[in-house]
Amino acid sequence: MSQSNLFLTSDTADKQAFVSMMESTVRAIADSMDHGQAYAGMGPYELRAAVHSDELLPQKGRAFDDILAEVKEKILPNLVRPMSTNYMAHLHSAALLETIAAEIILSTFNQSMDSWDQAPVATEIEVEVIRNLCKLYGYDEKGDGVFTSGGSQSNLSGLLLARDWFCNTKLNWDIKKFGLPTEFRKFRMYASEISHFSMEKSAHLMGLGYDAVAKIPVDNAMKMDMGALRAQIEADVKAGFMPFCACATVGTTDFGSIDPMDEMRAICDEYGMWLHADAAYGSGVVLSEKYAHRVAGLGACDSITVDFHKMFLMPISCSVSLIKDKTNFEALTLHADYLNREEDEEEGYINLVNKSMQTTRRFDALKVWISFRMRGKEGWSELITKCIDNAAYFYEQLAKRSDVEVIVKPEISSVVFRLLPVPGSSEDADTMNKRIRRKLLHHKGVVIGQTVCRGNTCLKFTLLNPLQSEAKLDELLALILSLR
Ligand SMILES: *Cc1c(COP(=O)(O)O)cnc(C)c1O
Repeated sequence: MSQSNLFLTSDTADKQAFVSMMESTVRAIADSMDHGQAYAGMGPYELRAAVHSDELLPQKGRAFDDILAEVKEKILPNLVRPMSTNYMAHLHSAALLETIAAEIILSTFNQSMDSWDQAPVATEIEVEVIRNLCKLYGYDEKGDGVFTSGGSQSNLSGLLLARDWFCNTKLNWDIKKFGLPTEFRKFRMYASEISHFSMEKSAHLMGLGYDAVAKIPVDNAMKMDMGALRAQIEADVKAGFMPFCACATVGTTDFGSIDPMDEMRAICDEYGMWLHADAAYGSGVVLSEKYAHRVAGLGACDSITVDFHKMFLMPISCSVSLIKDKTNFEALTLHADYLNREEDEEEGYINLVNKSMQTTRRFDALKVWISFRMRGKEGWSELITKCIDNAAYFYEQLAKRSDVEVIVKPEISSVVFRLLPVPGSSEDADTMNKRIRRKLLHHKGVVIGQTVCRGNTCLKFTLLNPLQSEAKLDELLALILSLR
C-alpha cells in the first residue's frame, strides 16, 4: 500500500493525521462564519460554472490541504447557514454543537445498526433512547420504535404497519407472505388536504396508489374538518370501500396547525382504523413545558413520526418511527442466515434490523442521547418555547397592520402572511410577494419561505432558531415592508 493514513488506527502517525485533519477542517468551518447572513453565495448559473469545471477523479491525487483549500474557496461560502437568524425558509434547522460532536463519533466508528455485532453499545443506546421516547410521548412498555432516515420514511413505516395490521387482523390475510389481498383497491386512508406529500408517496409505495388517500378539507384554523372526515368515511363504507387508517398531521408543513387527535381517535375506534400521527414538525412541542398540552393527543395514536432534524435542531438525518404496540413490528422482520439469526436473538443479542426498512443504518440515536442528557428538560423547554413565543409575537405584529394579511394564528412556530400592494401600484400582490422573496435571498442575505394559500402567493417564516429575537423580527418586518 503506497498511501498512508487511511484510517484512525492505534498507530501514532494515524492518530496525528486524524487530529490534524479534523482540526484543520473545524478551523476552516469556523473561519468561514465571517458574516451573519443566511446566504451570501453565488446564484445558480455562477455556482454551476464554478463547480462543474473540476476534474472529479484526476489521474494523480492531491494533498488533503489542497482539497481543503478548494473547499474553503468554492463550497463553504456557498452553503446556506440555517444557524443564521436571517434563515427561516423551511423546516430546516441549525445543528446544536453537541450533536455535531456526536456526528464525529458516530462517523469515525461507523457503527451499523442492523445487527448487534456491528454496533454493540450503539444498539443498547438506541434501545434506551427509544424506551425513553415512548415514555415521553405517552406510550407504555408495549411501545417501541426505530430510528429512520427522516419523516418521510417514518411515515411510510407507520402507514405500512397500519396496512399490514389491517390485513392481518381485519381480513385474516397474511400480507407479508401473499402480498396485497384481492380487495386492495378498496383500501382507503385519510389525511387532510394540507398533509405532507409523503402520504401519497407512501400509498404508492404500498401498492395502493395515490387515489387510496382521501384528502379531507381543513377548517379556518387549517385543521382537518372532523365533520368532513366522518362524512367521507361513512360515504366510503356505504360505497364498499375499506377505511384502514387516518393520519393526523401534528404540525402541518406550512402552517404548523395540529389536527384534532382526540376526535380522530374516537372516529378511528368506531370504524376499526389505525391512527397515525405525522408529528415530523410538531414532535418537538412535547419538550416545551408551556406548550406541551397542544400535542397531548400523541399518546393515543398507534404510530408517531418524530423528526429530530427539525424542531430538535439536530444534524440531518435523525428521525424516529414510534409504534404503540410493538408486536406490529413483526411486519418488518425477516431472518437472514448471515445477519440476524433467530438463535442469536434467543440468547439476548438484539438485531435492530428486525424493525427497520433499512439494513445498514446510522447511529443517529447518539445525537439524541448526548443532547438530551446535556441540556435536560429545562434547557430543552427553553429552546422550544422560545421558537413558539417568537411566532406568537411575529403574528401579533403582522395582525395589527392593515397592509398585511395573516392566514392563521400559529400553534407552533410558522407564520404565513402576504403583503398587500401599496395603493396605486400596478404590481399585483402575487408578483410583489414573489419578487420580495427573491430580492431577500440574493441581495439581503435573508432566506424566507414562500407558499400558496387559497390560491394566493404567501410568504412564510418558519422560526426554528431559538436565537431569533423580537427585535430582529421587527427589523426583518421593516426590511420586507421597505421592499414593496
Ligand atoms: C418535513 C415533514 C415530513 C418529511 O420529513 P423528512 O424528514 O423531510 O423526510 C413529513 N411530514 C411533515 C408534516 C413534515 O413537515
